[in-house]
Amino acid sequence: MTVQLNNITVDDFHFSGGENDTRFQILRLDKIHPEISGNKWFKLRYYLQHAVKHKKKILTYGGAWSNHILATAAACRENKISCTAVIRGEEPANYSPVLLSAKENGMQLFFVTREEYSRQIIPEELSSEDLSIIPQGGYGTAGVKGAEEILDHCNKENFTHICCAAGTGTMAAGLINAALPGQKIFVISVLKNHSGLENDIGALVSNDQAEWKVFHQYHCGGYAKSTPDLLNFMKELYDRTAVPTDFVYTGKLCYAISRLQKAHAFPAGSRVLLIHSGGLMGNLSLSLSLPLS
Ligand SMILES: *Cc1c(COP(=O)(O)O)cnc(C)c1O
Repeated sequence: MTVQLNNITVDDFHFSGGENDTRFQILRLDKIHPEISGNKWFKLRYYLQHAVKHKKKILTYGGAWSNHILATAAACRENKISCTAVIRGEEPANYSPVLLSAKENGMQLFFVTREEYSRQIIPEELSSEDLSIIPQGGYGTAGVKGAEEILDHCNKENFTHICCAAGTGTMAAGLINAALPGQKIFVISVLKNHSGLENDIGALVSNDQAEWKVFHQYHCGGYAKSTPDLLNFMKELYDRTAVPTDFVYTGKLCYAISRLQKAHAFPAGSRVLLIHSGGLMGNLSLSLSLPLS
């Protein structure tokens, strides 16, 4: 496996206009692999292990722009696991970069209606196969188990706050489970009106001492939407810190944390860790002059 976990670093980080002595650092999970990026490797590893052990094929679910689909395709190829994805919506005339790379990695793609997708149908062609199913975004107990290992890649006792972006909330639940007593976990939802997120996270949380909070106001228009303000912020952040972010997840995370700092959400002396969960491929859908790694 060519996922390079020893490439992970904890980089110093700062936001312009931060005046108190809060210290920010960022855990660079984006450095481990160009396609099996960031949190996806952690969320997938136990699903893959199970499939290899029981010689099963993998079936998973996602949208045409899903980092999860791309990561699953690449990870299955490296582990020589046969994999299929059910993609939400009609087959597009022009494939997105995610779909192109997934196909190149040997993933079989089925396009289904939104209604079929919401029922998580299994394509008829596969009905006689022995399948190992990975839910959308790796949400589930195997996904959270892997995500609990993210904080093994830093000295977690150094931090008062741990902050991450959330789609399905699987990574957030893993961080919450791995948190030390007294640490606060701030979760930035990247979807608009994702009112079920707290419940979805809660269903995977086993650490009932943990203090965690979901912020719903930093979606910048909704999933995979952006605002000029967000894109300017990401550019300015990259120029100043050399940390690239993506506009779907990590850009919104950093934007939210800079806003929260300005709103004095972090007491003086806080030591804040941001999780760079990867996803830089997502910028291919924009003509952004940000690098991909
Ligand atoms: C998939 C993804 C997330 C969301 O992870 P969840 O566990 O679904 O909340 C966050 N950041 C990046 C970069 C991602 O690709």
